[in-house]
Amino acid sequence: MKTKKWIVDNSDSLKTSYPQLLEAAALLKQDEVVAFPTETVYGLGANALSDQAVLRIFEAKGRPSDNPLIVHITKKEQLTGLVDNVSASAEQLMEAFWPGPLTLVLKSKEGVSSYVTAGLDTLAIRMPDHPVALALMEVAGLPLAAPSANLSGKPSPTTAAHVAEDLDGKIAGIVDGGPTGVGLESTVVDCTTEIPIILRPGGVTKEELEKVVGRVEMDPALKSQDHAPKSPGMKYTHYAPIAPVFLINGDEDFFKNIILTAQKEGKKVGVLVTEEKKALLKGAGDVVVTCGSINNLSTVAAQLYDALRAFNNKKVDVIYSEIFPYEGVGAAIMNRLEKAAGNKILTP
Ligand code: AMP
Ligand code: MG
Repeated sequence: MKTKKWIVDNSDSLKTSYPQLLEAAALLKQDEVVAFPTETVYGLGANALSDQAVLRIFEAKGRPSDNPLIVHITKKEQLTGLVDNVSASAEQLMEAFWPGPLTLVLKSKEGVSSYVTAGLDTLAIRMPDHPVALALMEVAGLPLAAPSANLSGKPSPTTAAHVAEDLDGKIAGIVDGGPTGVGLESTVVDCTTEIPIILRPGGVTKEELEKVVGRVEMDPALKSQDHAPKSPGMKYTHYAPIAPVFLINGDEDFFKNIILTAQKEGKKVGVLVTEEKKALLKGAGDVVVTCGSINNLSTVAAQLYDALRAFNNKKVDVIYSEIFPYEGVGAAIMNRLEKAAGNKILTP
């Protein structure tokens, strides 16, 4: 299949009238899948109301069929056809964070495709905060089921080039709206329980959620392998570059020693660090990729997936990564790094 590409300047103030989107929307209406930018990462969209279209997402990504998809909408009125029992706290969260990087898990209505929900009785739903994503859905007149537009297991795409790397020739089209902003996926919150539960940390932090609805819990599975995660996607290895990743939980001397030892064993060593840590390590390592500043974790989030992908062209044997505090957006960064590393953490 030849993958079509459209370039859309997302600073365009006309928003819903991007002419390039007509063709992309027409393909979506014909049950084809099209990648598009959101404020989190690129999504791989298909008509959420068509089983055939949704199946094509799973096929293109090689996604396990028991991992449900998030449905994207442009206005709250679309909720009525899709979900039931919207709690007061869910309403407050939508009011505060939509459009934005927050996905709510709600009771799904009869008739929602069981391919989207992977057979669960709940549906994950969000309103993205990106003019191109919103315009594409408006023009197509469809809610779009859309997971991240990467091959299953690979780091999520934050540029159209990342999408093409994984899916060129496998999907009908890619709408290129430039690099995404947040750089990590949405926060997934289960709103079917009395107290909302974070199933996946992401662009909206626990602290921000709690300011709006009071107490919010973390799914215990996020911290311990003894619990089965309520979000099926969280049980898979994810976000992983080709070389094995280890997280370094120690000071600079420990970090440098690990690098030197691997080099002595003849390994080509990749190092993933902030600008500050790079300076402290004095450039140790064969391929050093920086992602942002420790003083502003949003910059780390925005650059993390690009940094993980960067190692794949460099043929390193192993990657050692800095770790981050679990507060604020750090919780989402560490969740992705722990998955990329398969929880391999080196401590002195
Ligand atoms: P992705 O679309 O690749 O960003 O992944 C979506 C995430 O949301 C995965 O971790 C899914 O398992 C999770 N998810 C989607 N629908 C549900 C649901 N109904 N209940 C719990 N988790 C869900
Ligand atoms: Mg994904």
